[in-house]
Amino acid sequence: MELTPTMERLIAELVKLPTIGRKSAQRLAFHLLRREHDEALALARAIEDMRARVRFCQRCGNIAETDLCALCSDRSRDRSTLCVVEEVTDVVAFERGGSYRGLYHVLGGCLSPLHGVTPDRLSIEPLMARLREGGVRELIVATNPSVDGEATALYLARLARSLGIRTTRIGVGIPIGSTVEFADQVTVQKALEGRREIEP
Ligand SMILES: [Zn+2]
Repeated sequence: MELTPTMERLIAELVKLPTIGRKSAQRLAFHLLRREHDEALALARAIEDMRARVRFCQRCGNIAETDLCALCSDRSRDRSTLCVVEEVTDVVAFERGGSYRGLYHVLGGCLSPLHGVTPDRLSIEPLMARLREGGVRELIVATNPSVDGEATALYLARLARSLGIRTTRIGVGIPIGSTVEFADQVTVQKALEGRREIEP
């Protein structure tokens, strides 16, 4: 059954969200209809504020509400170690692990010639600029253990090596084909501890 045009419009927006099907969208729409006016609008306002305030850190690509993210601004973090990840959600996973004290660099994906993802589409040049500034002694490549993730790790290792920077790859623990984002706390920790030199 078709609902009112306005309800249908909201459902059409909700269905665009990941994991939300038509049934869930309809349930959410009715839930919002039943809630207090202000309470329902709080969701709309939260989305509005998020889009207005949240941006990407100018240095590492993590999310931030100022030019630099909370991690880049934290003077107690170890600036000699840089962990390269594909997405911001991977930073969240490593931070959940709790033991890593270095900084990050978010690539925005991994190299994938088949899908048209070439080095210029990722945050590789900004990474190189950071490395050229000096101070980084170890680059830990924590791209996902996929074919593309491994190829990206090798590519980055060659670039870093040309600058004389030691490059390591996170170790076993995160299963091939899985992602850093969904690894649990212990697995992320073990992967970090078990990192080894990349031999280009
Ligand atoms: Zn940052």
